[in-house]
Amino acid sequence: MIWTVLGTLGIVAAVVTAGVLLDRRFALLPRPRELLEAGKPGMKLPPYAPGEAPETALATPPAKVRCRVCRREALPTGEGGEGGADRVTYGDRELVVRRYRCPRCAAITAVYTTE
Ligand SMILES: [Zn+2]
Repeated sequence: MIWTVLGTLGIVAAVVTAGVLLDRRFALLPRPRELLEAGKPGMKLPPYAPGEAPETALATPPAKVRCRVCRREALPTGEGGEGGADRVTYGDRELVVRRYRCPRCAAITAVYTTE
């Protein structure tokens, strides 16, 4: 019974040792330095398009809004308070969200503006 346990531990230890030696030789796992560089500024996800997110809110609503899925012109949904616009607070900023529906694929595109 004790040898079953010790044998299992021995096999695990041997496999881990073999894995570490293989990794040292062939660099199977990403190194901390590589992971750090992948997280540096400039390597981030692409920023949002103007008006697409609170961070890129526009000063005024655009004359035309394109569907974010198929790029066709989207129309205001008319949903929400005061003419299809909702006031939201993002951080310490007051923003207005307007929603537009695509007549072709029915996707909703939200546009953030500062007024
Ligand atoms: Zn669409």
